[in-house]
Amino acid sequence: MNARKKSESPSSCSGRLVAYACNDRQSIGRRFKETHPTYRNEYQRDRDRIIHSAAFRRLEYKTQVFVNHEGDLFRTRLTHSLEVAQIARSIARELGLHEDLTEAIALAHDLGHTPFGHAGQTALNNCMKDYGGFEHNIQSLRVVDKLEQKYAEFEGLNLTFETREGILKHCAINNAKKLGDVGQRFINKTQRSLEAQLTDCSDEIAYNNHDIDDGIRYGLITINSLLKIELFREQYDIVNKQYSDLDDKKLVHEIIRRMINVMVVDLIDTSRINVTSAGLKSIDDVRNQKQELIAFSDDMNEKKQQLKQFLRKRLYQHYRVHRMTKKAADVIEALFNAFMEDHRILPTEALAHCNKLKEKHGDMGVVRGISDYIAGMTDRYAIVEYERIFNPRQLSFVNLIP
Ligand code: MG
Repeated sequence: MNARKKSESPSSCSGRLVAYACNDRQSIGRRFKETHPTYRNEYQRDRDRIIHSAAFRRLEYKTQVFVNHEGDLFRTRLTHSLEVAQIARSIARELGLHEDLTEAIALAHDLGHTPFGHAGQTALNNCMKDYGGFEHNIQSLRVVDKLEQKYAEFEGLNLTFETREGILKHCAINNAKKLGDVGQRFINKTQRSLEAQLTDCSDEIAYNNHDIDDGIRYGLITINSLLKIELFREQYDIVNKQYSDLDDKKLVHEIIRRMINVMVVDLIDTSRINVTSAGLKSIDDVRNQKQELIAFSDDMNEKKQQLKQFLRKRLYQHYRVHRMTKKAADVIEALFNAFMEDHRILPTEALAHCNKLKEKHGDMGVVRGISDYIAGMTDRYAIVEYERIFNPRQLSFVNLIP
């Protein structure tokens, strides 16, 4: 039986696709041509390749806001990515967009993150400032395009254009020029697919809500302090009216699940109005819009802004978070400087990667290789590597064990 025929028999997602959705049968394609998968569509294949990648497994031990080993219940980049995928799929299904594509983008969107969350990204970007900088978005693309090395015929995962486009959420013009097809939209000022847009919004819904949850659990913010925030207060009143004697754990969960729902419903309703009034007929119409059509209402944007400001001030800038991020930045900087000073202390595989890049890009290639090695580390691996290099007590045979 013809493989293409087989893959066409199941529906390309759970519902019917609207005319302006990304359609796996009309994908712009992969960088290296491949035969069509059997019993899967192209975006399912993308998703499966992402799930089976080493970078995806490492997300389990990478920080979102809190360092992974501080508690088993905190979000990691892995659980965050799963939450984003869950939210994105619900929205895609309701809007008739491609669920599998949104899932693939969601699962890959954070693959390029350094250890220690934003503190790690800032530190590595500082280290790389004379060498082209470091940007986690571009690094996510680099992971799926180049760094995953497991296929015989190509570097990376050879994902479809639509998934790669969704991974590259934003990008400076200078960088866009170096990125070929997926960089074009930043130069032409065209729009990404609706699937990519909605996955980005799902990311925001997920982290705003789970940061509240983790922040309360960690004792950095309180239910009382959150009552000043409209989005939280509205749901608190509803829950409190219905269940007046809930313990805090259940109370917080009942509020947050409603907050997620309110944001998702607002996004779907507003986007549906935008899409209808734009009169879209094809994916080209989506790309040629002046602005993105997947959006929250003005009212929700204001409420979100209030919540974000609260989280920035009370959670992300809490002194306990700052202490943690300072230590994290010190680890990244120390590792970078040590590897720059003496390439010979790089593990064999990392050194081989640097040397390969050197052949193409000279000394700049070596620095990018070091950045790739550090960016790929999990929180705990970075700490162990730091100990191995700087702790004199580890000056023993044990240090020879990789
Ligand atoms: Mg994210």
